[in-house]
Amino acid sequence: MYVEVLLEIKAKNIDQTFTYQVPDNMQKNISIGKRVNVPFGRQVLEGFILKIKDTCENDYRVLPINEIVDEEVVLNKELLEIGKYIKETTLCTLANAYQTMLPKALKASSKTNVNKKYQSILKLNDTYEKCLELCTSNTQKDIINLISESNNICKKEATAISLSSVKTLLNKKIIIEQKEEIYRYNIKETTKEEKKILNDEQKVCFNEIRKDINTNQKFLIHGVTGSGKTEIYMQLIELVLKKDKTAIMLVPEISLTPQFINNFQKRFGNIIAVLHSNLSDGEKYDEWRKIKKEKVKIVIGARSAIFAPLKNLGIIIIDEEHSESYKQDNTPRYHAIDVAEFRAKINNIPVVLGSATPTLERMAKASKNLYKLLTLKKRVNNALMPECIIVDMKEEIKNNNSVLSNRLKIEIEASISRNEQVILMLNRKGYSTYISCSNCGYTYKCPNCDITLTYYKTKNNLRCHYCGYTIFKKDKCPSCLEDINLYGLGTEKLEALVKKEFPDLRILRMDADTTRRKNSYEELYKKFKNHEYDILLGTQMISKGLDFPKVSLVGIINADEALNIPDFRSGERTFDLLYQTSGRAGRSNSIGTVVIQTFNKNNYILNCVCEQDYQKFYKYEMNIRRTLKYPPYYFLVNIKIKGKDLELVLQEAKKTASYLRKNIDKTSIVLGPTTSNIFKVNNIFRYNILIKYRFDKKLIPILKELDKIYTINNKVKLDIDMNPLSI
Ligand code: ADP
Ligand code: ZN
Repeated sequence: MYVEVLLEIKAKNIDQTFTYQVPDNMQKNISIGKRVNVPFGRQVLEGFILKIKDTCENDYRVLPINEIVDEEVVLNKELLEIGKYIKETTLCTLANAYQTMLPKALKASSKTNVNKKYQSILKLNDTYEKCLELCTSNTQKDIINLISESNNICKKEATAISLSSVKTLLNKKIIIEQKEEIYRYNIKETTKEEKKILNDEQKVCFNEIRKDINTNQKFLIHGVTGSGKTEIYMQLIELVLKKDKTAIMLVPEISLTPQFINNFQKRFGNIIAVLHSNLSDGEKYDEWRKIKKEKVKIVIGARSAIFAPLKNLGIIIIDEEHSESYKQDNTPRYHAIDVAEFRAKINNIPVVLGSATPTLERMAKASKNLYKLLTLKKRVNNALMPECIIVDMKEEIKNNNSVLSNRLKIEIEASISRNEQVILMLNRKGYSTYISCSNCGYTYKCPNCDITLTYYKTKNNLRCHYCGYTIFKKDKCPSCLEDINLYGLGTEKLEALVKKEFPDLRILRMDADTTRRKNSYEELYKKFKNHEYDILLGTQMISKGLDFPKVSLVGIINADEALNIPDFRSGERTFDLLYQTSGRAGRSNSIGTVVIQTFNKNNYILNCVCEQDYQKFYKYEMNIRRTLKYPPYYFLVNIKIKGKDLELVLQEAKKTASYLRKNIDKTSIVLGPTTSNIFKVNNIFRYNILIKYRFDKKLIPILKELDKIYTINNKVKLDIDMNPLSI
């Protein structure tokens, strides 16, 4: 017996299988999808068995495998297929694809040592009556009673009563001890909550999907914030469970709040596995095994949960479809929605995507009937959409209100006087906490990365977001030696300003700094919900998924920041962000207010936000995309060419661009090379080549070709991103 083993070697030129012989004593345990250790050169490497065969066509000596790593298959047939799909669509290696799909504990080559945990349990060895008869003391009888109440108990529980009695019972074989696998992460017991009665809009939506529940139909639910999408998801899952099938529910990491998970637990109880980045490697491994052993029927998780090894899948639901977190931003650069659609096709099941602000790409597909579009226009209980006010900051500056406009201050006071809460959002994508000298214009920049350093007030230092380079802030400008001034606005500074303006209000700041600790996000969230604070202030982090009934005012401090980023998606991103944040205002009875502060009060996108008009935004933005040949009218490929030697990188980049121009389809467009947005990271120079194409049969083979060439070049590296989210 021989096996073909896919080895875990980083270099792409050895993305292939090697044949090994299987010793007789191992043959009965061999299966496709298990890992084995094999000799390779002087090393021992771990790899996946992809094929079993009786003969070996090679005439040289074939080495035997050393050992079989897994008792059970880790890559089942479906996962094996998905890996191939990822390789083909993202141009990564097959080994790389499989690595990504498995929890860290199962990755070959990973050094993490995660063990299964066991506990000892005690069981009766005979009928309850017989066991009682054999007891010689009352404590022994107590233990027997305890065990019989729940069939089995933890050994610890029994020894707490009497260690000697347990020993006697075990010695006399009245009870027996067994080892049972335990899982680190356990769902808390909650009271069950009945499903809600769907309103008319929800019902139409639900019924449309139910009609096609046994097909591979794709759905896009476009439902305004608060329209009750989650309730529809839960009822769809219930429907699928009734047919004895299973479900995957994907949400962005940021929405995977304890509240969200809790809602599912209340409905479905203990049959849920949760996968998110806050779990330890051990916990993730346990969750994965629960799924594998069919102990759960629903998997809720972020991007990588799409690889959950659930059997008999019945539906895949993806909430906040527009979230960029669904695409992995390092190799393999897969998109969870693509994988979901591939999996759905294999299983012949529906995919349901939902969003209040669908991506243009998917909305365009819906308009071509590639998705069935379902619309929810009303909020549950007919709560009204918030009223939106645009404040012209150009005018405010004249009155020295550079951060909080008069209007916003008035609205804050009004909300607080009604005993309601306020959210203030600061958009910080644009590196706004940089320092510049008001005298000479000097700004601190990272010597390695060509980006401005970010100022941290608490430590009084400046740090690079990309490489971590840190220097202390001096009081004098290093260039002109005058006093240096802070420029730009961070959450800390905003907090200080709001405090000064409203000294009596309780202010909660939520940003990457205050939520770094495990569970701190949850704690802060609870405190705000319990009205222990009046104002919640933070970055984009607070824009999604939060449901605070007492918030009646949302202030967006610097609406322009996101618009100014040089990226073709910045209009769409701004719309999403502002629309979603506005959705936090007035979710229950009272009508909410949104104040948008901007220096561009006539900006079209801001006005679409203000009118809460997705269709208007969609038409406007699609027009731009068509004119400028961007998605969804064209597909994009972004190629990054990187290296330490500037001359060489530029030379190779030019060579690559002209090679592409000559060889790919004439209808495709090759732009560049240009310097990347961030030209230098950690002393590595980066150039971009952008390809726009519609139909190009030659493209993929040529990209594969290029990829191969550069894996063996150790001076210049090539990084190909199919359908990039940003360039
Ligand atoms: P979305 O995800 O569309 O923004 P949610 O699912 O968060 O909206 O729903 C908003 C609120 O409405 C939630 O508190 C939810 O429990 C409630 N809700 C949803 N559907 C119903 C219904 N049919 N009847 C009563 N309440 C509902
Ligand atoms: Zn740096």
